[in-house]
Amino acid sequence: MKIGFIGLGNMGGPMAANLSAAGHEVTGFDLSAPMPAGVTAATSAAHAATGMDVVITMLPNGAILRSVAAELIPAMTAGTVLCDCSTVDVDSTRVVAEQAAAAGLDALDAPVSGGVGGATAGTLTFMVGGSDAGFAAVKPLFDIMGQKAVHCGDAGAGQSAKICNNMILGVTMIATCEAFALADKLGLSREKMFDVVSTSSGYSWSMNAYCPAPGVGPKSPADNDYTPGFAAELMLKDLRLSQQAAESVDADTPMGQAAAALYTEFVEAEGGKGKDFSAMLPRFEKRGRG
Ligand code: NAD
Repeated sequence: MKIGFIGLGNMGGPMAANLSAAGHEVTGFDLSAPMPAGVTAATSAAHAATGMDVVITMLPNGAILRSVAAELIPAMTAGTVLCDCSTVDVDSTRVVAEQAAAAGLDALDAPVSGGVGGATAGTLTFMVGGSDAGFAAVKPLFDIMGQKAVHCGDAGAGQSAKICNNMILGVTMIATCEAFALADKLGLSREKMFDVVSTSSGYSWSMNAYCPAPGVGPKSPADNDYTPGFAAELMLKDLRLSQQAAESVDADTPMGQAAAALYTEFVEAEGGKGKDFSAMLPRFEKRGRG
């Protein structure tokens, strides 16, 4: 397949490299990131989109997606697919999908879970919104870049699934960290706390697979001085998207709102920027109730 790939940063770079290694003809464009192995450099987003069967975008946010989409949609051939893998707001996704449809293109929103490790290993999970035909066309590429692709529904459904998942993740990480900090003050060893909770009803991915306490459970960013992993500011981005979406449909999400407020404080005022999102544990450790 001829694939255009726009946004070759931490995630897009290895994803594009995996597509090329699997034998696809990949043409890439990025404002600053280097070209990954096997990817031919284009001179602009429109250039990377011209004559392609599928165009994939992996960009920082909805505003950038909208401006890049405005450039590349007119360059694409009718009947081909625009597949956005970025995490962006549901409104931007729907606007881009409408513009693509007006140009005779299929549009998919296909945000991912699995981080840079998953992008490199080709083990991402894709949550996909868009038509059956669009999903079927891009499925062979999802199978190269990931281990699972779930067709969640129409345009916007992939982003909706992603922000709901990450709202749960932010909330459970905070709950796990505050419980560890409480257990510390109650004199419970972290090892015992992990042994009990990871096999009891308080278990979660945050505890079992990504334990925020160093030296406890499987290896995680906590064991590497909280080097990301998944940076606190990216969690904050996703929590803000969840609250923006909740507001737009009048959904009551008090825990998500509290998590967004805590990560805002952590990232903007408490030195959390650049740290893994599980560094909430040392934050709680230092604090009392007041
Ligand atoms: P990144 O900042 O490393 O990469 C984004 C790339 O987009 C950069 O290389 C940048 O130069 C490029 N870019 C920006 N504007 C551009 C433009 N107008 N034209 C062409 N290129 C442009 O970010 P990332 O970590 O690769 O994340 C990409 C997306 O994936 C984000 O939406 C993020 O929320 C999502 N995501 C990231 C992770 C993660 O762990 N990093 C996990 C899941 C989802």
